[in-house]
Amino acid sequence: MKIGVLALQGDVREHIQSLSDCGVDAIAVKTKSEIDSISALVIPGGESTTIAKLARSFNLFDLIKARISSGMPTYGSCAGMILLSNQVEDAIAGQESFGGIDMVVRRNAFGRQVDSFETDLKFKGITEPAIRAVFIRAPWVESVGENVEVLSEITDSNGDKHPVAVRQGHLLATSFHPELTGDNRVHKYFVENICREFANI
Ligand code: GLN
Repeated sequence: MKIGVLALQGDVREHIQSLSDCGVDAIAVKTKSEIDSISALVIPGGESTTIAKLARSFNLFDLIKARISSGMPTYGSCAGMILLSNQVEDAIAGQESFGGIDMVVRRNAFGRQVDSFETDLKFKGITEPAIRAVFIRAPWVESVGENVEVLSEITDSNGDKHPVAVRQGHLLATSFHPELTGDNRVHKYFVENICREFANI
């Protein structure tokens, strides 16, 4: 059983490394036959508009969307979170997402001054120590439907809380980039709590 990392654009190598560290067979995927060969997918951080456009131009968009909606375990970090969201605020005109998670995500939500920062976060289902979360021009979650479980939240400068890690059944999304910290506990959560249940990996 293999987990694919969508290799159209973004930090593919880091996700492959994190998944390999969890003891699973992880490969970069960018063709139909590669995507057909996997049982679970990671959509990396990068630029959601670019990844969506490349998926369209390589004729992979509908295939990926169909696999996601038919139950393939999928984890999206940052741009990947945007691509798994049913609704995107501050999208560019015509921006598409694969969808799957019943939520509204705001792109570049943290504003210009704090485009990139790091902080420690509690993550439901992952025990202490806290997760070191790296945010790079990151989205946050504006609202979630009733079937979406919030796993982690951040408090903004106004004291308002925003979900930054969510799960809906076979789908997981984080605003931040655990693949950049060398701590593979979020990938392990995906493999052990989601892939094993939904893809029997
Ligand atoms: N701002 C990017 C987007 O809209 C996401 C940034 C990232 O993945 N680090 O896609």
